Amino acid sequence: MTKKPKPVIGVLTSGGDSPGMNAAVRGVVRTALERDVDIYIIYEGYQGMIDGGDKIVKANWDSVGGILQRGGTSIGTARCADFKTHEGRRTAARNLIEHRINHLVVIGGDGSLTGANIFQKEWLSLLVELVDLGEISNDVAQKYTEFKFVGLVGSIDNDMFGTDMTIGADTALHRIVEAIDAITSTAASHQRAFVIEVMGRHCGYLALMSALATGAAWVLIPESPPNVDDWETTMCEVLKMGRDAGRRTGIVIVAEGAQDRNGKGISANYVRDVLEKNLKIDTRVTILGHVQRGGAPSAFDRNLGTVLGYAAVDHLITSDAEAEASIVGIQGNQVTYMPLADSVQKTKQVAKVIKAKDYETALELRGGSFKDAFRTFRTIIRTFPSKTETTHQPKRFAVMNAGGPAPGMNTAVRAAVRLGIDKGHTMLGVQNGFIGLIDGNIEELNWMSVHGMVTKGGADLGTNRKIPQGGELYAIARNIENFNIDGIMIIGGWVGYEAAHLLHSKQENYPAFEIPILCIPATINNNLPGSELSIGSDTAINNIIEAVDKIKQSAVASRRCFVVEVMGRHCGYLALTSGIATGAERIYTHEEGVTLKNLQTDLNDLLEGFKLGKRLALIVRSERANSFYTTSFMSALFDEESHDLFDVRQAILGHLQQGGNPSPFDRIQATQFAARGIEFLIEQAHQDSPRSAFVGFHHGKITFFDLSRFTYMVDRKHQRPKQQWWLKREDIASVMSQSGPHSRKRK
Ligand code: ADP
Repeated sequence: MTKKPKPVIGVLTSGGDSPGMNAAVRGVVRTALERDVDIYIIYEGYQGMIDGGDKIVKANWDSVGGILQRGGTSIGTARCADFKTHEGRRTAARNLIEHRINHLVVIGGDGSLTGANIFQKEWLSLLVELVDLGEISNDVAQKYTEFKFVGLVGSIDNDMFGTDMTIGADTALHRIVEAIDAITSTAASHQRAFVIEVMGRHCGYLALMSALATGAAWVLIPESPPNVDDWETTMCEVLKMGRDAGRRTGIVIVAEGAQDRNGKGISANYVRDVLEKNLKIDTRVTILGHVQRGGAPSAFDRNLGTVLGYAAVDHLITSDAEAEASIVGIQGNQVTYMPLADSVQKTKQVAKVIKAKDYETALELRGGSFKDAFRTFRTIIRTFPSKTETTHQPKRFAVMNAGGPAPGMNTAVRAAVRLGIDKGHTMLGVQNGFIGLIDGNIEELNWMSVHGMVTKGGADLGTNRKIPQGGELYAIARNIENFNIDGIMIIGGWVGYEAAHLLHSKQENYPAFEIPILCIPATINNNLPGSELSIGSDTAINNIIEAVDKIKQSAVASRRCFVVEVMGRHCGYLALTSGIATGAERIYTHEEGVTLKNLQTDLNDLLEGFKLGKRLALIVRSERANSFYTTSFMSALFDEESHDLFDVRQAILGHLQQGGNPSPFDRIQATQFAARGIEFLIEQAHQDSPRSAFVGFHHGKITFFDLSRFTYMVDRKHQRPKQQWWLKREDIASVMSQSGPHSRKRK
């Protein structure tokens, strides 16, 4: 029997570039090295595979250093006509074998992965042809019969089956939302309308999500054309009603591939002409184009690329030889595997059904959350409460914030207020968290009082860390009665959950508390039970990585170690996630703990690293990782012991982490939670014994947990959930870091 060769991996990026591809390449290379597997970078996509020679290069630890924060792909990509030919693919096969490569990771969009699927299917016949042509021997061909493929979807469109999110889509949303925020301010100054075209030939993901995240008035996507023939009139009516109600802007978002029910394309210019003609308002078109692909990858894409790169290598070296080629993707925060052929086939199916004007199926194929987002958007854009949904039993719901400010709180308030009013209920705003509920600082909110709040950071209703006690509970009960409150939505952090739980548990003493209370997770710390992510944490991590990118750049000329302290109280989520996204050498969290022994080992690793030529090291420390080994202590220790090999600077990032406009993800999540949350309150307010709950994303789905479960699910002393899903990423962080046991790989 022929001895099977050792695994040797090749990695390439192909097709349109997308931000986060670098993180994926880095993830693949470093995981392979850590597993002692040879790894080759194939430059310039499939073209490099066909050209061979210096386009296929063995990689070491430093080959992928300093690329994590860069946009695009540092190993080059290409559109390659030759790879579409059989001969081209045969040459590519020969070049791979020449480099002993028997595992391939392709990072690209649907075109590239379609190519990979074809390549994989004909692999054995290519080997036979190469033997027949005398280019390889029979023995060699035998060794390469088991060739393994894995695909990672790198695409800004989020248009592929096999993953909830493609690498690059989140960054593209950042670019789009930044642009629309900027346009909104100029549009408001001049009372103009804007039509904005975003990418997406067959997929309305970017258009729909950016509409949800920016308060756009109308959106046109390929999967769901307007369902009336005369949609132009409806669109103009919606914009006109908005103007009459005091809106100073009107933004319409058009996906590149938007079309009407008859399959006729709808261009941005056409929409502008319609608006100008019917509304007589100055209307401008902005086609965002390649801006959407560019710029530094968002924290989410850096982490997605890293996690998927790591998982791809793991899958290649542990799966059976006969395993099918797979797409490694993500669902919620779980890594998933789908046969490549299925993914390619299903993706093509959406384009086909759109072409066949079967829009129901198209929306269905996109999945539940896409459909939900579309439904939420349609309700939320209505300028005036729709008459159709008015309920016969109107209720009065209070909305409030609690805990530290989290970007996205305003977004959630806006969505809750508008959706509540839309369904015929009265919405009340409680000022300043529980202090307002105690003092009766409660006012009715109307449709326009939340205008503009979708994009605004901070918490306009006010928020604080007050937990009511003693006689204050009585005051709250009285206000619930005086204001006839039928349900409360608390958009906040730990203290909101504690206080809600307290009210809920005192129902026997205070019958006024027998109303539904719903907590929506909003804290940058991401330390709440029942939700994998809380509103605000994505923005905070992006704030951190922007600051750290700058801090790292400031150190070009010296050998320096930065110790960066981030927030999170006793929860290490911000530290670990921002540490992975910035390429930190070491991340200290309270969960893992800090010991003198760790510090000594880490110091030795730093010394070794700098001796070997390292110029910059980054350490991220969670604020309460250890109360004795503080950031200042650690910085002083490393500085004193650095033997002048490097110097140490500390940076305590502080409140910049809580500030700024919410990221697209936080806006979308806030809107979705509020939309489902208001439905929950309405339903429960009509029950004899209403439920109180906290809501969250759990295994990728919006889930409600009974409020009484709060105490069972948390470590109260440290104010964090007992189970924290992200802790499993500690392994990935340690593989990617350049110090520790891995520093030997630098040699
Ligand atoms: P993306 O991967 O971003 O969708 P393209 O559609 O341009 O980008 O595809 C990138 C490359 O993938 C193409 O230039 C070609 O080399 C390869 N490719 C695409 N489709 C096929 C196919 N049907 N057969 C073989 N190779 C293909």
